Amino acid sequence: MDYDKLAELLFPNITKTPEDYEALYPERSLPEGAMVTRMAPSPTGFIHLGNLYGALADERLAHTTGGACFLRIEDTDDKREVEGAVPVLLDTLSYFGITFDEGKTKDGEIGAYGPYTQSQRAEIYQTMVKHLVRQGKAYPCFMTEEEIEEIRKAQAEAKLDPGIYGAYAKHRDLSYEEIEKRIQNGEEYVIRFRSEGDPARYFHAVDAIRGDISMPENVQDVVILKKIGLPTYHFAHVVDDHLMRTTHVVRGEEWMASVPIHVQLFDAMGWERPIFCHNTVLMKIDEETNQKRKLSKRKDPELSLEYYKKLGYFPEAVREYLMTILNSDYEEWRLANPEADYRDFDFSASKMSSSGTLFDLSKLNDVSKDVLAKKSAAQILEFMLSWAEEYHRDIFDLFSANKEKLLKIFDIDRGGEKPRKDLIFAEQIFGFMKYFFDEYFEYQDEWPAEVSAQDRKEILTRYLQGYDPADDNSAWFEKVRAITADLGYAVKPKDYKKNPEQYKGHVGHVSTVIRRAVTGKTNSPDLWTVQQIMGIDMVRSRVEKAMEQ
Ligand code: GLU
Repeated sequence: MDYDKLAELLFPNITKTPEDYEALYPERSLPEGAMVTRMAPSPTGFIHLGNLYGALADERLAHTTGGACFLRIEDTDDKREVEGAVPVLLDTLSYFGITFDEGKTKDGEIGAYGPYTQSQRAEIYQTMVKHLVRQGKAYPCFMTEEEIEEIRKAQAEAKLDPGIYGAYAKHRDLSYEEIEKRIQNGEEYVIRFRSEGDPARYFHAVDAIRGDISMPENVQDVVILKKIGLPTYHFAHVVDDHLMRTTHVVRGEEWMASVPIHVQLFDAMGWERPIFCHNTVLMKIDEETNQKRKLSKRKDPELSLEYYKKLGYFPEAVREYLMTILNSDYEEWRLANPEADYRDFDFSASKMSSSGTLFDLSKLNDVSKDVLAKKSAAQILEFMLSWAEEYHRDIFDLFSANKEKLLKIFDIDRGGEKPRKDLIFAEQIFGFMKYFFDEYFEYQDEWPAEVSAQDRKEILTRYLQGYDPADDNSAWFEKVRAITADLGYAVKPKDYKKNPEQYKGHVGHVSTVIRRAVTGKTNSPDLWTVQQIMGIDMVRSRVEKAMEQ
Protein backbone atom coordinates (compact mmCIF):
# COMPACT_ATOMS: atom_id res chain seq x y z
CA MET A 1 0.00 0.00 0.00
CA ASP A 2 1.23 3.43 -0.89
CA TYR A 3 0.40 5.28 2.32
CA ASP A 4 1.41 8.66 0.94
CA LYS A 5 -1.12 8.23 -1.81
CA LEU A 6 -3.77 7.17 0.71
CA ALA A 7 -2.99 10.22 2.88
CA GLU A 8 -3.49 12.49 -0.15
CA LEU A 9 -6.74 10.76 -1.04
CA LEU A 10 -8.09 11.26 2.48
CA PHE A 11 -6.74 14.75 3.16
CA PRO A 12 -6.28 16.53 -0.15
CA ASN A 13 -6.65 19.95 1.45
CA ILE A 14 -4.16 19.45 4.25
CA THR A 15 -0.88 20.96 3.18
CA LYS A 16 0.79 21.55 6.54
CA THR A 17 2.97 19.02 8.35
CA PRO A 18 3.48 18.30 12.05
CA GLU A 19 6.78 20.20 11.81
CA ASP A 20 4.93 23.35 10.84
CA TYR A 21 2.99 23.18 14.09
CA GLU A 22 6.06 22.27 16.10
CA ALA A 23 7.57 25.50 14.84
CA LEU A 24 4.43 27.49 15.48
CA TYR A 25 4.11 26.25 19.07
CA PRO A 26 7.68 26.02 20.35
CA GLU A 27 8.67 24.59 23.70
CA ARG A 28 7.92 27.07 26.43
CA SER A 29 10.88 28.72 28.04
CA LEU A 30 10.11 28.18 31.68
CA PRO A 31 12.26 27.63 34.74
CA GLU A 32 13.27 24.10 35.68
CA GLY A 33 10.41 22.28 37.40
CA ALA A 34 7.73 24.69 36.17
CA MET A 35 4.48 22.90 35.43
CA VAL A 36 2.14 23.63 32.58
CA THR A 37 -1.39 22.50 33.37
CA ARG A 38 -4.79 22.97 31.90
CA MET A 39 -8.44 22.73 32.65
CA ALA A 40 -10.26 21.14 29.75
CA PRO A 41 -13.99 21.17 30.32
CA SER A 42 -16.64 20.12 27.84
CA PRO A 43 -19.37 22.75 27.54
CA THR A 44 -22.16 20.53 28.79
CA GLY A 45 -23.78 23.25 30.88
CA PHE A 46 -23.06 21.60 34.20
CA ILE A 47 -20.05 22.82 36.10
CA HIS A 48 -19.63 21.07 39.38
CA LEU A 49 -17.55 20.92 42.49
CA GLY A 50 -15.35 18.21 40.98
CA ASN A 51 -14.46 20.60 38.15
CA LEU A 52 -13.53 23.29 40.62
CA TYR A 53 -11.52 20.82 42.68
CA GLY A 54 -9.54 19.88 39.56
CA ALA A 55 -9.21 23.48 38.39
CA LEU A 56 -7.79 24.56 41.72
CA ALA A 57 -5.24 21.76 41.53
CA ASP A 58 -4.30 22.86 38.00
CA GLU A 59 -4.00 26.45 39.03
CA ARG A 60 -1.97 25.76 42.16
CA LEU A 61 0.42 23.30 40.51
CA ALA A 62 1.18 25.78 37.75
CA HIS A 63 1.47 28.83 39.91
CA THR A 64 3.44 27.35 42.80
CA THR A 65 6.07 26.19 40.30
CA GLY A 66 6.26 29.32 38.16
CA GLY A 67 4.53 27.60 35.24
CA ALA A 68 1.35 28.35 33.35
CA CYS A 69 -2.23 27.18 33.44
CA PHE A 70 -4.70 27.49 30.60
CA LEU A 71 -8.35 26.87 29.86
CA ARG A 72 -9.22 24.75 26.85
CA ILE A 73 -12.76 24.20 25.69
CA GLU A 74 -13.36 20.62 24.57
CA ASP A 75 -16.31 21.01 22.27
CA THR A 76 -15.83 18.23 19.75
CA ASP A 77 -18.92 16.39 20.88
CA ASP A 78 -21.77 18.51 19.59
CA LYS A 79 -24.34 16.11 21.08
CA ARG A 80 -23.27 17.10 24.56
CA GLU A 81 -22.82 20.77 23.90
CA VAL A 82 -25.22 23.18 25.56
CA GLU A 83 -25.86 26.62 24.16
CA GLY A 84 -24.48 29.38 26.40
CA ALA A 85 -22.51 26.95 28.56
CA VAL A 86 -19.13 28.60 28.00
CA PRO A 87 -19.98 32.05 29.43
CA VAL A 88 -21.54 30.37 32.48
CA LEU A 89 -18.42 28.29 32.89
CA LEU A 90 -16.18 31.35 32.66
CA ASP A 91 -18.30 33.32 35.12
CA THR A 92 -18.42 30.49 37.61
CA LEU A 93 -14.69 29.86 37.53
CA SER A 94 -13.87 33.51 37.92
CA TYR A 95 -16.40 33.78 40.76
CA PHE A 96 -14.42 31.15 42.64
CA GLY A 97 -11.19 32.99 41.93
CA ILE A 98 -9.68 30.63 39.40
CA THR A 99 -7.58 32.59 36.95
CA PHE A 100 -5.88 31.24 33.87
CA ASP A 101 -2.85 32.62 32.11
CA GLU A 102 -4.05 31.58 28.69
CA GLY A 103 -7.02 30.23 26.85
CA LYS A 104 -10.62 31.05 26.51
CA THR A 105 -11.81 34.25 28.21
CA LYS A 106 -14.95 36.34 27.96
CA ASP A 107 -13.21 38.64 25.52
CA GLY A 108 -11.92 35.99 23.18
CA GLU A 109 -8.77 33.96 23.60
CA ILE A 110 -5.39 34.92 24.99
CA GLY A 111 -2.06 33.13 24.68
CA ALA A 112 0.35 31.93 22.03
CA TYR A 113 -0.72 28.29 21.93
CA GLY A 114 -4.27 28.68 20.63
CA PRO A 115 -6.85 28.26 19.35
CA TYR A 116 -7.92 26.93 22.74
CA THR A 117 -11.30 25.79 21.49
CA GLN A 118 -11.11 22.37 19.93
CA SER A 119 -13.73 22.93 17.25
CA GLN A 120 -11.40 25.59 15.84
CA ARG A 121 -8.47 23.21 15.58
CA ALA A 122 -9.77 20.83 12.90
CA GLU A 123 -6.90 21.55 10.53
CA ILE A 124 -4.33 20.79 13.23
CA TYR A 125 -5.88 17.43 14.09
CA GLN A 126 -6.27 16.50 10.44
CA THR A 127 -2.63 17.34 9.81
CA MET A 128 -1.60 14.97 12.58
CA VAL A 129 -3.94 12.23 11.38
CA LYS A 130 -2.64 12.62 7.84
CA HIS A 131 0.84 12.13 9.23
CA LEU A 132 -0.23 8.88 10.90
CA VAL A 133 -1.92 7.64 7.72
CA ARG A 134 1.23 8.40 5.78
CA GLN A 135 3.12 6.15 8.16
CA GLY A 136 0.57 3.37 7.93
CA LYS A 137 -0.51 3.98 11.56
CA ALA A 138 -4.08 5.02 10.83
CA TYR A 139 -6.70 4.00 8.27
CA PRO A 140 -10.23 4.80 7.16
CA CYS A 141 -12.99 2.56 8.48
CA PHE A 142 -16.33 2.47 6.70
CA MET A 143 -18.17 0.16 9.08
CA THR A 144 -21.72 1.26 9.77
CA GLU A 145 -23.32 1.55 13.21
CA GLU A 146 -25.27 -1.62 12.43
CA GLU A 147 -22.17 -3.62 11.55
CA ILE A 148 -20.48 -2.47 14.75
CA GLU A 149 -23.54 -3.37 16.79
CA GLU A 150 -23.55 -6.87 15.30
CA ILE A 151 -19.91 -7.31 16.21
CA ARG A 152 -20.69 -6.16 19.74
CA LYS A 153 -23.46 -8.71 20.06
CA ALA A 154 -21.36 -11.56 18.71
CA GLN A 155 -18.57 -10.64 21.12
CA ALA A 156 -20.98 -10.52 24.04
CA GLU A 157 -22.34 -13.97 23.17
CA ALA A 158 -18.86 -15.41 22.83
CA LYS A 159 -17.83 -13.62 26.06
CA LEU A 160 -15.04 -11.80 24.27
CA ASP A 161 -13.79 -8.29 24.96
CA PRO A 162 -15.93 -5.78 23.09
CA GLY A 163 -14.49 -3.44 20.50
CA ILE A 164 -12.81 -3.14 17.15
CA TYR A 165 -9.54 -5.01 17.33
CA GLY A 166 -7.75 -7.88 15.60
CA ALA A 167 -10.09 -9.69 13.21
CA TYR A 168 -12.94 -7.36 14.15
CA ALA A 169 -11.06 -4.42 12.67
CA LYS A 170 -12.42 -5.39 9.28
CA HIS A 171 -11.24 -2.41 7.32
CA ARG A 172 -7.72 -2.40 8.61
CA ASP A 173 -6.34 -3.77 5.42
CA LEU A 174 -8.61 -2.53 2.67
CA SER A 175 -6.79 -1.93 -0.61
CA TYR A 176 -6.28 1.56 -1.94
CA GLU A 177 -8.70 0.81 -4.78
CA GLU A 178 -11.38 -0.41 -2.39
CA ILE A 179 -11.02 2.71 -0.26
CA GLU A 180 -11.13 4.97 -3.29
CA LYS A 181 -14.23 3.22 -4.63
CA ARG A 182 -16.07 3.54 -1.32
CA ILE A 183 -15.21 7.21 -1.07
CA GLN A 184 -16.38 7.80 -4.62
CA ASN A 185 -19.63 6.04 -3.71
CA GLY A 186 -20.10 8.61 -0.96
CA GLU A 187 -19.66 6.13 1.90
CA GLU A 188 -18.94 7.81 5.22
CA TYR A 189 -15.92 6.84 7.27
CA VAL A 190 -13.97 7.49 10.43
CA ILE A 191 -10.21 7.22 10.89
CA ARG A 192 -8.99 4.54 13.26
CA PHE A 193 -5.60 4.11 14.81
CA ARG A 194 -3.90 0.87 13.79
CA SER A 195 -2.93 -0.63 17.12
CA GLU A 196 0.14 -2.81 17.32
CA GLY A 197 -0.45 -3.37 21.01
CA ASP A 198 0.04 -6.73 22.67
CA PRO A 199 -2.19 -7.47 25.67
CA ALA A 200 0.53 -9.59 27.19
CA ARG A 201 2.89 -6.63 27.24
CA TYR A 202 2.76 -4.03 29.99
CA PHE A 203 3.82 -0.42 29.70
CA HIS A 204 4.72 2.06 32.40
CA ALA A 205 3.65 5.66 32.76
CA VAL A 206 4.13 8.26 35.44
CA ASP A 207 1.23 9.48 37.52
CA ALA A 208 2.22 12.20 39.95
CA ILE A 209 -0.61 11.30 42.32
CA ARG A 210 -0.58 7.51 42.05
CA GLY A 211 3.06 6.88 41.26
CA ASP A 212 4.02 4.40 38.56
CA ILE A 213 1.12 3.07 36.50
CA SER A 214 1.61 -0.18 34.70
CA MET A 215 -1.10 -1.60 32.47
CA PRO A 216 -1.42 -3.96 29.50
CA GLU A 217 -1.00 -2.32 26.11
CA ASN A 218 -4.06 -1.24 24.19
CA VAL A 219 -5.21 -3.52 21.39
CA GLN A 220 -8.21 -1.57 20.18
CA ASP A 221 -8.17 0.29 16.88
CA VAL A 222 -9.75 3.35 18.43
CA VAL A 223 -11.42 6.05 16.38
CA ILE A 224 -9.21 9.12 16.28
CA LEU A 225 -11.11 11.22 13.75
CA LYS A 226 -14.88 11.23 13.54
CA LYS A 227 -16.96 11.47 10.38
CA ILE A 228 -17.34 15.20 10.84
CA GLY A 229 -13.58 15.65 10.66
CA LEU A 230 -13.13 16.39 14.36
CA PRO A 231 -11.17 14.16 16.70
CA THR A 232 -12.30 12.00 19.56
CA TYR A 233 -11.23 13.00 23.07
CA HIS A 234 -8.35 10.49 22.94
CA PHE A 235 -6.67 12.04 19.95
CA ALA A 236 -7.56 15.65 20.72
CA HIS A 237 -6.04 15.36 24.19
CA VAL A 238 -2.80 13.94 22.79
CA VAL A 239 -2.44 16.57 20.07
CA ASP A 240 -3.45 19.50 22.24
CA ASP A 241 -1.46 18.59 25.30
CA HIS A 242 1.58 18.09 23.11
CA LEU A 243 1.28 21.28 21.09
CA MET A 244 0.20 23.38 24.05
CA ARG A 245 3.22 22.00 25.86
CA THR A 246 1.29 20.69 28.84
CA THR A 247 3.61 19.01 31.32
CA HIS A 248 0.97 17.68 33.76
CA VAL A 249 -2.44 16.37 32.76
CA VAL A 250 -4.69 16.72 35.81
CA ARG A 251 -7.98 14.97 35.14
CA GLY A 252 -10.61 12.71 36.68
CA GLU A 253 -9.83 9.11 37.54
CA GLU A 254 -12.42 7.97 34.99
CA TRP A 255 -9.69 8.55 32.38
CA MET A 256 -7.31 6.06 33.99
CA ALA A 257 -8.71 3.24 31.87
CA SER A 258 -7.86 5.16 28.69
CA VAL A 259 -4.21 5.73 29.57
CA PRO A 260 -3.10 2.74 27.42
CA ILE A 261 -4.68 4.41 24.38
CA HIS A 262 -3.16 7.78 25.15
CA VAL A 263 0.29 6.44 25.79
CA GLN A 264 0.16 4.54 22.51
CA LEU A 265 -0.89 7.66 20.62
CA PHE A 266 1.84 9.83 22.16
CA ASP A 267 4.39 7.17 21.25
CA ALA A 268 3.06 6.79 17.71
CA MET A 269 3.39 10.51 17.17
CA GLY A 270 6.91 10.41 18.56
CA TRP A 271 6.02 12.82 21.32
CA GLU A 272 7.06 12.86 24.94
CA ARG A 273 4.27 11.75 27.25
CA PRO A 274 3.03 14.23 29.83
CA ILE A 275 2.91 13.31 33.48
CA PHE A 276 -0.60 12.23 34.36
CA CYS A 277 -2.31 13.30 37.57
CA HIS A 278 -5.50 11.30 37.93
CA ASN A 279 -7.42 12.79 40.79
CA THR A 280 -10.27 11.16 42.64
CA VAL A 281 -14.00 11.57 42.53
CA LEU A 282 -15.64 13.43 45.36
CA MET A 283 -17.51 11.23 47.80
CA LYS A 284 -19.91 11.93 50.63
CA ILE A 285 -21.45 10.01 53.47
CA ASP A 286 -24.98 9.20 52.38
CA GLU A 287 -27.49 10.61 54.88
CA GLU A 288 -29.67 7.50 54.74
CA THR A 289 -27.29 4.59 54.46
CA ASN A 290 -24.34 6.19 56.27
CA GLN A 291 -22.13 4.73 53.57
CA LYS A 292 -19.52 6.55 51.52
CA ARG A 293 -20.66 7.10 47.95
CA LYS A 294 -19.94 9.32 44.93
CA LEU A 295 -21.59 12.71 44.89
CA SER A 296 -24.41 12.44 42.41
CA LYS A 297 -25.82 15.08 40.10
CA ARG A 298 -29.31 13.73 40.65
CA LYS A 299 -29.29 13.30 44.41
CA ASP A 300 -26.90 15.97 45.69
CA PRO A 301 -27.61 19.62 44.94
CA GLU A 302 -24.30 20.47 46.63
CA LEU A 303 -22.45 18.97 43.67
CA SER A 304 -23.46 21.93 41.52
CA LEU A 305 -21.44 25.11 41.93
CA GLU A 306 -24.59 27.13 41.45
CA TYR A 307 -25.68 25.79 44.84
CA TYR A 308 -22.87 27.70 46.59
CA LYS A 309 -23.40 30.86 44.59
CA LYS A 310 -27.08 30.90 45.31
CA LEU A 311 -26.71 30.34 49.03
CA GLY A 312 -23.99 32.96 49.02
CA TYR A 313 -20.93 31.06 50.18
CA PHE A 314 -17.90 33.28 50.05
CA PRO A 315 -15.83 31.95 47.14
CA GLU A 316 -12.78 32.19 49.33
CA ALA A 317 -14.37 29.85 51.88
CA VAL A 318 -15.15 27.22 49.26
CA ARG A 319 -11.63 27.50 47.91
CA GLU A 320 -10.13 27.27 51.38
CA TYR A 321 -12.12 24.11 52.07
CA LEU A 322 -11.14 22.57 48.74
CA MET A 323 -7.50 23.22 49.61
CA THR A 324 -7.97 21.18 52.78
CA ILE A 325 -9.23 18.19 50.83
CA LEU A 326 -6.78 18.63 47.95
CA ASN A 327 -3.58 18.48 49.95
CA SER A 328 -3.32 16.33 53.02
CA ASP A 329 -1.26 18.73 55.13
CA TYR A 330 -3.04 21.97 54.23
CA GLU A 331 -5.11 22.08 57.40
CA GLU A 332 -2.08 21.66 59.56
CA TRP A 333 -0.29 24.41 57.62
CA ARG A 334 -3.29 26.71 58.02
CA LEU A 335 -3.31 26.21 61.79
CA ALA A 336 0.34 27.17 61.93
CA ASN A 337 -0.15 30.07 59.50
CA PRO A 338 -3.60 31.49 60.18
CA GLU A 339 -2.96 34.79 58.41
CA ALA A 340 -0.98 33.54 55.44
CA ASP A 341 -2.16 33.72 51.87
CA TYR A 342 -3.22 30.26 50.63
CA ARG A 343 -0.86 30.78 47.72
CA ASP A 344 2.09 30.54 50.10
CA PHE A 345 1.27 26.91 50.80
CA ASP A 346 3.57 24.40 49.15
CA PHE A 347 1.02 22.62 46.98
CA SER A 348 2.01 19.37 45.37
CA ALA A 349 0.45 16.58 43.33
CA SER A 350 2.03 13.91 45.49
CA LYS A 351 0.01 15.17 48.47
CA MET A 352 -3.25 14.70 46.56
CA SER A 353 -5.45 11.78 47.43
CA SER A 354 -5.60 8.74 45.18
CA SER A 355 -8.74 7.21 46.62
CA GLY A 356 -12.21 8.77 47.01
CA THR A 357 -11.96 12.22 48.58
CA LEU A 358 -14.59 12.87 51.21
CA PHE A 359 -16.54 16.05 50.78
CA ASP A 360 -18.25 17.14 53.97
CA LEU A 361 -20.64 20.08 53.93
CA SER A 362 -20.45 20.62 57.68
CA LYS A 363 -16.67 20.82 57.44
CA LEU A 364 -17.05 23.40 54.69
CA ASN A 365 -19.30 25.37 57.03
CA ASP A 366 -16.69 25.28 59.79
CA VAL A 367 -14.02 26.50 57.40
CA SER A 368 -16.36 29.21 56.21
CA LYS A 369 -16.92 30.40 59.79
CA ASP A 370 -13.18 30.78 60.24
CA VAL A 371 -12.78 32.61 56.96
CA LEU A 372 -15.64 35.00 57.69
CA ALA A 373 -14.44 35.70 61.22
CA LYS A 374 -11.42 37.37 59.65
CA LYS A 375 -13.43 39.61 57.33
CA SER A 376 -14.21 43.22 58.16
CA ALA A 377 -17.78 44.44 58.44
CA ALA A 378 -17.29 46.36 55.20
CA GLN A 379 -16.16 43.21 53.37
CA ILE A 380 -19.15 41.26 54.64
CA LEU A 381 -21.49 44.03 53.60
CA GLU A 382 -19.96 44.30 50.16
CA PHE A 383 -20.35 40.58 49.57
CA MET A 384 -23.90 40.51 50.93
CA LEU A 385 -24.81 43.33 48.56
CA SER A 386 -23.44 41.58 45.49
CA TRP A 387 -25.13 38.32 46.46
CA ALA A 388 -28.47 40.05 47.10
CA GLU A 389 -28.22 41.97 43.86
CA GLU A 390 -28.11 38.73 41.96
CA TYR A 391 -30.44 36.54 43.96
CA HIS A 392 -32.69 38.66 46.23
CA ARG A 393 -33.70 42.00 44.84
CA ASP A 394 -35.78 42.82 47.95
CA ILE A 395 -32.84 42.27 50.28
CA PHE A 396 -30.63 44.28 47.95
CA ASP A 397 -32.94 47.28 48.18
CA LEU A 398 -33.17 46.97 51.95
CA PHE A 399 -29.41 46.67 52.32
CA SER A 400 -28.67 49.52 49.94
CA ALA A 401 -30.85 51.82 52.01
CA ASN A 402 -29.33 50.77 55.37
CA LYS A 403 -25.60 50.57 54.86
CA GLU A 404 -24.63 52.46 58.02
CA LYS A 405 -26.80 50.29 60.20
CA LEU A 406 -25.53 47.13 58.51
CA LEU A 407 -21.94 48.07 59.10
CA LYS A 408 -22.73 48.33 62.80
CA ILE A 409 -24.55 44.98 62.73
CA PHE A 410 -21.71 43.19 60.98
CA ASP A 411 -19.25 44.83 63.30
CA ILE A 412 -20.68 43.21 66.42
CA ASP A 413 -17.97 41.09 68.05
CA ARG A 414 -15.73 41.44 65.03
CA GLY A 415 -11.98 41.91 65.37
CA GLY A 416 -10.24 41.34 68.69
CA GLU A 417 -8.89 38.10 70.08
CA LYS A 418 -12.00 36.00 69.87
CA PRO A 419 -14.23 37.12 67.02
CA ARG A 420 -17.66 35.52 66.71
CA LYS A 421 -17.69 32.54 64.41
CA ASP A 422 -21.28 32.21 63.45
CA LEU A 423 -21.49 33.62 59.95
CA ILE A 424 -21.37 30.96 57.23
CA PHE A 425 -23.03 32.03 53.97
CA ALA A 426 -25.14 34.97 52.80
CA GLU A 427 -28.54 33.37 53.14
CA GLN A 428 -27.75 32.10 56.61
CA ILE A 429 -26.26 35.48 57.57
CA PHE A 430 -29.42 37.20 56.46
CA GLY A 431 -31.56 34.79 58.47
CA PHE A 432 -29.28 35.44 61.37
CA MET A 433 -29.65 39.23 61.48
CA LYS A 434 -32.90 39.97 59.72
CA TYR A 435 -34.59 40.77 63.06
CA PHE A 436 -32.95 44.17 62.78
CA PHE A 437 -35.55 44.97 60.13
CA ASP A 438 -39.27 45.04 60.92
CA GLU A 439 -40.17 43.86 57.41
CA TYR A 440 -38.40 40.56 58.06
CA PHE A 441 -38.90 40.18 61.80
CA GLU A 442 -40.39 36.89 62.97
CA TYR A 443 -40.38 34.82 66.12
CA GLN A 444 -37.87 32.13 65.29
CA ASP A 445 -37.70 30.55 68.77
CA GLU A 446 -40.12 29.76 71.59
CA TRP A 447 -40.24 31.45 75.00
CA PRO A 448 -38.08 29.82 77.66
CA ALA A 449 -40.18 27.12 79.36
CA GLU A 450 -38.90 28.07 82.84
CA VAL A 451 -40.82 31.35 82.85
CA SER A 452 -44.62 31.43 83.23
CA ALA A 453 -46.78 33.59 80.94
CA GLN A 454 -47.63 35.81 83.86
CA ASP A 455 -43.98 36.34 84.84
CA ARG A 456 -43.12 36.97 81.23
CA LYS A 457 -45.55 39.85 81.07
CA GLU A 458 -44.28 41.18 84.34
CA ILE A 459 -40.66 41.02 83.17
CA LEU A 460 -41.46 42.80 79.93
CA THR A 461 -43.59 45.47 81.59
CA ARG A 462 -40.87 46.32 84.05
CA TYR A 463 -38.22 46.14 81.38
CA LEU A 464 -40.08 48.60 79.21
CA GLN A 465 -40.52 51.00 82.10
CA GLY A 466 -36.86 50.93 82.98
CA TYR A 467 -35.25 50.79 79.53
CA ASP A 468 -33.04 53.77 78.82
CA PRO A 469 -30.77 53.71 75.75
CA ALA A 470 -28.42 56.09 77.58
CA ASP A 471 -27.50 53.32 80.06
CA ASP A 472 -24.19 51.69 79.43
CA ASN A 473 -23.94 47.93 79.26
CA SER A 474 -23.46 47.41 82.99
CA ALA A 475 -26.14 49.88 84.06
CA TRP A 476 -28.49 48.15 81.66
CA PHE A 477 -27.67 44.73 83.06
CA GLU A 478 -28.11 45.97 86.63
CA LYS A 479 -31.73 46.72 85.76
CA VAL A 480 -32.21 43.23 84.37
CA ARG A 481 -30.73 41.84 87.58
CA ALA A 482 -33.12 43.92 89.66
CA ILE A 483 -36.13 42.52 87.80
CA THR A 484 -34.67 39.04 88.21
CA ALA A 485 -34.38 39.32 91.97
CA ASP A 486 -37.76 41.03 92.43
CA LEU A 487 -39.59 38.25 90.68
CA GLY A 488 -37.94 35.43 92.62
CA TYR A 489 -35.33 34.32 90.10
CA ALA A 490 -31.67 33.78 90.98
CA VAL A 491 -29.31 36.58 89.99
CA LYS A 492 -26.50 34.03 89.73
CA PRO A 493 -27.18 30.90 87.67
CA LYS A 494 -24.98 28.85 90.00
CA ASP A 495 -27.20 29.70 92.99
CA TYR A 496 -30.16 28.36 91.08
CA LYS A 497 -28.28 25.23 90.12
CA LYS A 498 -27.34 24.62 93.75
CA ASN A 499 -30.83 25.22 95.14
CA PRO A 500 -33.35 24.97 92.31
CA GLU A 501 -36.26 24.68 94.72
CA GLN A 502 -35.56 28.21 96.07
CA TYR A 503 -35.98 30.00 92.75
CA LYS A 504 -38.27 30.04 89.73
CA GLY A 505 -35.25 30.18 87.44
CA HIS A 506 -32.23 32.41 87.00
CA VAL A 507 -31.07 35.59 85.30
CA GLY A 508 -30.41 33.70 82.07
CA HIS A 509 -34.10 32.79 81.79
CA VAL A 510 -35.15 36.35 82.46
CA SER A 511 -32.81 37.81 79.90
CA THR A 512 -33.88 35.18 77.39
CA VAL A 513 -37.42 36.49 77.72
CA ILE A 514 -36.16 39.97 76.86
CA ARG A 515 -33.98 38.71 74.08
CA ARG A 516 -36.78 36.71 72.55
CA ALA A 517 -39.07 39.73 72.70
CA VAL A 518 -36.55 42.03 71.04
CA THR A 519 -34.97 39.70 68.47
CA GLY A 520 -37.50 36.86 68.10
CA LYS A 521 -34.67 34.49 69.05
CA THR A 522 -33.27 32.96 72.22
CA ASN A 523 -29.75 33.40 70.96
CA SER A 524 -28.20 36.58 69.66
CA PRO A 525 -25.07 38.66 69.99
CA ASP A 526 -24.78 40.94 73.02
CA LEU A 527 -28.28 42.28 73.61
CA TRP A 528 -27.25 45.70 74.84
CA THR A 529 -25.28 46.28 71.59
CA VAL A 530 -28.14 44.91 69.49
CA GLN A 531 -30.53 47.39 71.10
CA GLN A 532 -28.13 50.29 70.63
CA ILE A 533 -28.15 49.58 66.91
CA MET A 534 -31.91 49.08 66.77
CA GLY A 535 -32.76 52.36 68.51
CA ILE A 536 -35.30 53.00 71.23
CA ASP A 537 -38.39 52.99 68.99
CA MET A 538 -37.76 49.55 67.63
CA VAL A 539 -36.91 48.15 71.07
CA ARG A 540 -40.14 49.59 72.49
CA SER A 541 -42.38 48.36 69.76
CA ARG A 542 -40.84 44.86 69.88
CA VAL A 543 -41.37 44.58 73.64
CA GLU A 544 -44.92 45.91 73.37
CA LYS A 545 -45.70 43.47 70.60
CA ALA A 546 -44.32 40.57 72.65
CA MET A 547 -46.42 41.55 75.66
CA GLU A 548 -49.52 40.84 73.63
CA GLN A 549 -48.55 37.23 73.16
N1 GLU B 1 -13.17 17.19 28.36
C1 GLU B 1 -12.76 16.19 29.27
C2 GLU B 1 -13.79 16.11 30.38
O1 GLU B 1 -14.52 17.06 30.57
C3 GLU B 1 -11.43 16.61 29.85
C4 GLU B 1 -10.64 15.59 30.48
C5 GLU B 1 -9.22 16.14 30.63
O2 GLU B 1 -9.02 16.99 31.49
O3 GLU B 1 -8.35 15.74 29.86
O4 GLU B 1 -13.91 15.12 31.03
